[in-house]
Amino acid sequence: MNIFVTGGAGFIGSHLVRALLERGDHVSVLDNLSTGRFANIEPFVGHPRFHFAIDDLRNALVLDRLAAESDAIVHLAAAVGVKLVVEQPTETIETNVLGTHAVLRVARRYRCRTLLASTSEVYGKGVSIPFQEDDDLLLGPSSRSRWSYAASKLLDEFLGLAAHREYGLPVAIARFFNTVGPGQSGRYGMVVPRFVRQALRGQALTVYSDGSQSRCFCHVADTVRALLALLDRPETTAGQVFNIGSTQETTITKLAQQVIKRTGGPGEIVYVPYGQAYAPGFEDMQRRVPDIAKISRAIDWQPTRDLNSILDDVIAYEQARLDAGAAQ
Ligand code: UDP
Repeated sequence: MNIFVTGGAGFIGSHLVRALLERGDHVSVLDNLSTGRFANIEPFVGHPRFHFAIDDLRNALVLDRLAAESDAIVHLAAAVGVKLVVEQPTETIETNVLGTHAVLRVARRYRCRTLLASTSEVYGKGVSIPFQEDDDLLLGPSSRSRWSYAASKLLDEFLGLAAHREYGLPVAIARFFNTVGPGQSGRYGMVVPRFVRQALRGQALTVYSDGSQSRCFCHVADTVRALLALLDRPETTAGQVFNIGSTQETTITKLAQQVIKRTGGPGEIVYVPYGQAYAPGFEDMQRRVPDIAKISRAIDWQPTRDLNSILDDVIAYEQARLDAGAAQ
């Protein structure tokens, strides 16, 4: 198939591109390198089935040309990372909503089956754990900019589902929970690469708040397997929303302790109030656990990697980067 991946130079995107090329697909990537990195796609440059354009989703001509040649679109390009979202709310809302609008317009024009990336952020402050796709959603007030991310991705979901309902476009929505693995940047707040880098450099690990908040971390390789299967089964997935994530829950303090143990570092933890880490009045979720029964039923998917094996993968990757930097 010809697959068009927006945001293909990002963390999840570049892992997906590799998997698509390995199984024989033709892949086009559009990425403006705002949070994605050229280094992520550099290994594919020169591959006979790989094309890329460094451009913005809002360049209608490029978007149109790439969609015209494609059977399917995986729309991953988005403003992501809590830090970025809090610092640049206007850019976040515009990138997410206008970007998805533009993608769906060309998808309709060329009848491309479409997979839209969404996020567990849309569950907001919901407390009915685990989160199910049909749960009511509880977001915070518009005066707190964190919620602009959830609201913008929710609007993306509505746009995608409307395109399915009104125009019969095969659109599926993937709600990612915390996805981690080699190659993830810690610049935008993601906790696992941040902790691993801090530990490898002998720095204190910065646990925000009291560290009792919990998350479930899913290896990107498992996430990519889910995306491929969702893409391949439009007859069972179109018009539907799917959680993609691990159900192994860990508190952030435990995560920090685990990282310290597995890196063999001296291991200091400092607790940083949210207001200092992000912005005054920042609201975080205490727990976030997906119910994955729906995706398991639809495509027979389960995550296969536990937290220790994920951490070992990230530690090996970050150690290699550190060694390469030191050797230069
Ligand atoms: N966090 C932390 N220290 C950091 C970065 C993040 O304690 O250096 C916390 C953050 O407050 C949140 C959790 O780790 O409770 C996961 O954060 P991340 O940004 O990775 O993902 P989120 O689930 O917030 O989207």
